[in-house]
Amino acid sequence: MKQDKEYWDKKVETMPMEELFQRQFQTLRRYIEYAYTKSPYYRRILQEKKVRPSDITSLDDYYENFPFITKSILIENQRRNPPLGDLLAVDQKELRKLYETAGPIFLPFTNEDYDLETSRYAHAYYSCGARKGDIVDVTVTYHWTLAGTVLDDAFGKVGCAVIPGGPGQSRTHAKNIKETKATVLCAFPSFAAQIGEAAREIGLDPLKDFSLRLAIVMGEVRSEDSKKALSRSLNVDVREVYGTTELALVAYECQEGGGLHLNGEVVFETVDPKTGKHLPYGEPGEIVATSFTKRALPIIRYRTGDLVGPLKMETCACGRTTAKMPRILGRASDIAKVKGIFVVPRQVENVITKFPQLGRYQIVVDHPKTVDTLAIAIEYKEEIDLEKMKQLLVNELREEINLTAEVRLMREGTMSGDAPILDDRRKN
Ligand SMILES: [Zn+2]
Repeated sequence: MKQDKEYWDKKVETMPMEELFQRQFQTLRRYIEYAYTKSPYYRRILQEKKVRPSDITSLDDYYENFPFITKSILIENQRRNPPLGDLLAVDQKELRKLYETAGPIFLPFTNEDYDLETSRYAHAYYSCGARKGDIVDVTVTYHWTLAGTVLDDAFGKVGCAVIPGGPGQSRTHAKNIKETKATVLCAFPSFAAQIGEAAREIGLDPLKDFSLRLAIVMGEVRSEDSKKALSRSLNVDVREVYGTTELALVAYECQEGGGLHLNGEVVFETVDPKTGKHLPYGEPGEIVATSFTKRALPIIRYRTGDLVGPLKMETCACGRTTAKMPRILGRASDIAKVKGIFVVPRQVENVITKFPQLGRYQIVVDHPKTVDTLAIAIEYKEEIDLEKMKQLLVNELREEINLTAEVRLMREGTMSGDAPILDDRRKN
């Protein structure tokens, strides 16, 4: 067992799972009661469903009866009742910040909301390995969106000094990382890699001139290989976090790596991306969650559209008992379920990009007789041994998606220009 100082909130991070679910339900019960009382939207939708907060007596009741909220509902709600819609549960005088997110949706925060939001991120960054005394270059956008300011204040809560660099100007980032002896980089993985390249362009060697030891990244990580490549190029540990603007921080990697611990304060579930049916805890599906961070605009049972593989349930070597999720597979709208297994274009891309001789591809799913079929058409750019390449791809794809696909290799330029990446020809 690790020392207390290894945890941000030892009680929640190491609680037996059943006890944690009980705790989550108690928070949820109060939050639903609050939303029902204060937010006209929730009162309306629950009354329409003839559900009172007191009818929800367990997490199972909630999974069964509580309606989802989605990005499109949020957009529509604000469009109908500008500026903030009737989800709003506090007086405007209590608002401190308004952040814009894609839609557009404006997310209002009270002081308390902002404090909770930054605490969730601080918890994650601490678990990733950031510590008091670190100097952090924050490279995400500071204006309009919540990213920059929230992340900045979260690192502040950990006790770090922040360089509010923001996006772009990779050479200036490289220069400042060297000059300040920054120890932590907070970035999208592609921009972290770009900073490394920019450093080399101006004659710096990140391995010698940088003092970085940790990169905290979100989104875009495609595979364990790409993560290792980033780790080598900057000589840092790379740790991932996952969150959405609507939910705050949902999961983070500990220093053991190998998956992202779910934040124990978040009610997390997966649903079938096609039918919305709640799935048993730990099964792969679309992420749906309630994070309790927003009193100004309560967001309950939010469907993220993000697809995730199976959770790891066993206690981690770090001592945390919270389940670990693998990285996001893709968007729920871009997937097909073949023989009961999710097939995501990104997984296919992970394989194809290993071979520079290959180019565009198309995934074709069909159900000609009694079973699903999966075919992947791939263009090749130069002369290759077709049989050998085909066998190699079948094997690599089987590793990546756990299915045997029929691989069709075609000469560059012969695939129809408007072929969709995923063509699901099944009737249902
Ligand atoms: Zn762990």
